[in-house]
Amino acid sequence: MHQGKGQAKCSLCGAEEAPSGSFPMVVGVGKVCIADGMVNVKCEACGAGVKRVTSARLQGRTLCLTDYMKEIEKYRRHIVQSFDEEDEPAVAILQRAYNGAPEGYTLLAVRRGRNSTHLWEAEYEKTEVFQMRCS
Ligand SMILES: [Zn+2]
Ligand SMILES: [Zn+2]
Repeated sequence: MHQGKGQAKCSLCGAEEAPSGSFPMVVGVGKVCIADGMVNVKCEACGAGVKRVTSARLQGRTLCLTDYMKEIEKYRRHIVQSFDEEDEPAVAILQRAYNGAPEGYTLLAVRRGRNSTHLWEAEYEKTEVFQMRCS
């Protein structure tokens, strides 16, 4: 993308940003002028109407920020949590690892942390991903 002299342009209508710089950024779109930012758009996930400045574009879909965060979360397939045996006994750690899976995640493994005698790691995988692999 060419932007002469560092002057930004609205990525929708091409209007030039004032040298002081006041165009808001829209995730997945780029800088937009104030007029375009104030346009109402519809979230393609939940149908809510939001101003473009509070929306985001992901893979060609316009989303409200809440749904954008949810979509981003979907890409986070693995979560690793660590526990410290100096804080609590191993038995308690194991129990907590089994019972305390984050919502939507399935426990894959509990193991000793690498190069550590007192750290444990619990690895969780997105339940949907887990089920896809196991069926
Ligand atoms: Zn514009
Ligand atoms: Zn939405």
